[in-house]
Amino acid sequence: MNAISIKNLTKTYSNGTRALKGVDLQVSAGDFCALLGANGAGKTTIIGILTGLVNKTSGHVEVFGHDIDREHQSAKRVIGVVPQEMNFSIFEKVEDIVVNQAGYFGIDRKTASAEAEKNLRRLRLWDQRQQMAKNLSGGMKRRLMIARALVNKPRLLILDESTAGVDVEIRHSMWEFLGELNSGGTAILLTTHYLEEVERLCRRAAIIKDGLIIANDRVKNLVKMVARETYIVHVDAIRSLEKIRGYHPVMIDENTFEVELSKEERLNEFIAYLSQLGMVVTDFRPKGNRIEKLFLHILNSQTGIGAGL
Ligand code: ADP
Repeated sequence: MNAISIKNLTKTYSNGTRALKGVDLQVSAGDFCALLGANGAGKTTIIGILTGLVNKTSGHVEVFGHDIDREHQSAKRVIGVVPQEMNFSIFEKVEDIVVNQAGYFGIDRKTASAEAEKNLRRLRLWDQRQQMAKNLSGGMKRRLMIARALVNKPRLLILDESTAGVDVEIRHSMWEFLGELNSGGTAILLTTHYLEEVERLCRRAAIIKDGLIIANDRVKNLVKMVARETYIVHVDAIRSLEKIRGYHPVMIDENTFEVELSKEERLNEFIAYLSQLGMVVTDFRPKGNRIEKLFLHILNSQTGIGAGL
């Protein structure tokens, strides 16, 4: 059975904006799927329809076999959602925020408290359970949203840009948690701006543009399309320039250059090579946003121009 089955879904908002123009999307039970697209592509609208916040215009949507029109309550019960905006009262206590959410699903307080404890512990928020939410850091608030979304033990967890603005360390611990959750059988659909996140976590990715899914494939296959990556490398001093000429470095200043590497050429090996040449690498980072590059690649390959990015 599919966790999500969307057929020919359309949405026209009352101001005439055609946000979805016939979306087809299947996510299998237990899958980990990314929904990628530029701002305004239609991601939040799809999530809104799945979670009952937005009324669709036409089409057919099922969540674990429950039709969202005919079996709205059953569909709602199997979904947990972590929205983009923090939408809890900051004056409520952490534990209460999680336990009170269970009320919407008709879950009794004892069961809810046990589930809240389990998830607050797993998300390292148990020590803060009596704190008002306003005292939590940004990363803790994000984790609280996840704990709250899990209180009804959803079979499908939807995360809408939940790691945006979260620092690297917290993002990594959230990834680990989501990975474990998925291994335990929870299907996950997430939207994100980070291709690293997609590569690390997701098996599949669907790409939406202007209200239509333009690609839906295994992440492995999609990532192959952006196999080459440009890095900005800082070194203590550029030495033996002639020896790295083969990599076609583009000089930025006396300590910095750009270099394009393919997956096979591997960044680690390149850095080792620089150190053999006596250069100390003080910093390196990818130059651009790879998701944007991937979008461009797919769009261009569809229109038949600019392949080979
Ligand atoms: P994304 O989540 O990918 O950024 P959205 O689903 O939020 O995209 O938006 C898709 C399109 O629908 C955009 O053109 C957006 O401006 C429009 N839109 C979203 N919500 C509303 C709304 N409540 N009323 C009118 N237009 C909307």
